[in-house]
Amino acid sequence: MPSGSTHDRITLWILAPIATICWLLTESGELTLIVSGSFLFSGLMFGPDLDTHSRQFKRWGRLKSIWLPYQKLLRHRSIFSHGFWIGTILRVCYLFVFLSLISVFTVALGQAIFGFHWNWQEFIKNSIALLTREYKDIAIATLVGLELGSLSHILSDTICSSYKKSQKSSRNSSARKSAHRKKK
Ligand SMILES: [Zn+2]
Repeated sequence: MPSGSTHDRITLWILAPIATICWLLTESGELTLIVSGSFLFSGLMFGPDLDTHSRQFKRWGRLKSIWLPYQKLLRHRSIFSHGFWIGTILRVCYLFVFLSLISVFTVALGQAIFGFHWNWQEFIKNSIALLTREYKDIAIATLVGLELGSLSHILSDTICSSYKKSQKSSRNSSARKSAHRKKK
């Protein structure tokens, strides 16, 4: 597997081509910025290696413990963290559940102290309407950027492990050949 610093370097190298392609496809500075920003976030902090004590995990600083249950639930390099689309979608859902729990707790505490009115049903309905209508393009661009960051990680993991496997098998076969020659 490439080291954390190699993954970081790959993310930074790919950033400019991703931004260029996105600009050529959308001709929108806003969408290019969102895709590039979420790609960078995914590559450096929100990638598949949150399933282990990686650089991505450590970059969450004091908040890193929110990923401990995620690590407990998933085996390192499992399809649920390193799978195409499934990894990104599960991480987004996981973070969403975590943030929802914190929000529910904060609102309940605020209501108990200040006694303000809050309607969760209305809030959820309005948020879904905003995300699916007004901010639809932004939501899609964010997801695409996050998945591209994850994909660059998965591809470099796959390329590196198949390269190591081929190196190992060629070393084994040359060792077998030299042992065979010695016997002769
Ligand atoms: Zn990985």
